[in-house]
Amino acid sequence: MPLRATLNDKQVQSFEFPLDEWEELKHGYRKQKLLMPCCLNKAIPKTSKLGTQYFAHSRRGDCTSAPESQEHMYLKFAVAKAAKESGWTVTTEYQGCTPSGDKWVADVFCEKGTARIAFEIQWSQQATNEYLRRTEKYTQSGVRCAWLFRLNGSKEYGRYEFIESYSLPYFGFKKKADGYVVARYQKSITEFVHGMLCGKLVWGPKTGDLLNIRVCYIDDICWKCKRTTNLVTGLEVLDKNNRHLDFLSFGGAGVEEWISTHIDNAELHAAGIGQIKNRYSKTVGHSYMSNGCFHCDALQGNFFIPPSLEGGNKLVCEWSYNSEELHIEPTWSFEGNPGTYWF
Ligand SMILES: [Zn+2]
Ligand SMILES: [Zn+2]
Repeated sequence: MPLRATLNDKQVQSFEFPLDEWEELKHGYRKQKLLMPCCLNKAIPKTSKLGTQYFAHSRRGDCTSAPESQEHMYLKFAVAKAAKESGWTVTTEYQGCTPSGDKWVADVFCEKGTARIAFEIQWSQQATNEYLRRTEKYTQSGVRCAWLFRLNGSKEYGRYEFIESYSLPYFGFKKKADGYVVARYQKSITEFVHGMLCGKLVWGPKTGDLLNIRVCYIDDICWKCKRTTNLVTGLEVLDKNNRHLDFLSFGGAGVEEWISTHIDNAELHAAGIGQIKNRYSKTVGHSYMSNGCFHCDALQGNFFIPPSLEGGNKLVCEWSYNSEELHIEPTWSFEGNPGTYWF
């Protein structure tokens, strides 16, 4: 059911009506020409159980527009209102098409200057391919598409369960006691949409961004001299406010080179860490950059160590991001916050 209609041949949108004017329309619409945008059949202004102002068909007739759930409409209303309040021109159920003639209908379409953003609210489960396919239609039409999709409110999710990319901004929301919340950032739908339209959702890190790198290490017993030595396990990447962005394991691309470039041997030594350098391994049959025993310099093999994000031993270094040295998985940050890993 749309939030848009034509009233005496002029477009009107339900979210633009203050409560008293909406009530007035509900009383007086019969004497005017109020039509649905989808099929030009007669429209009735209604208020849903959730308090959403919307237009319904007086008779559906041959209209083929898909029916919507109350929740979908409620969220569309909230997004449209937030977008308008952010200073954008907003049209709900906006119909457009790609240069090759493929049609699309955006839940909430926003324009400002040359920028065009379509918000899609996804209440039912949708396969990733479908997200990509539908997003591509918008991309071809010169429209940026952002998705808000429903998560199961009682389930916990990890970020790894969703593909992160610049071309597919999609964010899960959960129902909380006080309304719908974008789970990863703990922001209400209204705050999130407002922030997005004010440039507070940023994809990064970008070259030159200042990051904090923690060289993480643990202690272990040297297989050769049986003494305790510290071994580097990897690099934890944080933003400049020390919020976790990524963890790169020792042995991963560029990690050892990064350490030898940015961390003084003396600093490693002071932390009880052996030299990071090329050593020949008989087991592997060639030499590679490795941890060595602090005492006897024997090669300490790489083994999988799960990243410990809290506690543990760390050397901290500030670094200006350069993807040629180290590749850090980019992510969406909202108001400078990459959000929680679990949500
Ligand atoms: Zn219709
Ligand atoms: Zn040793």
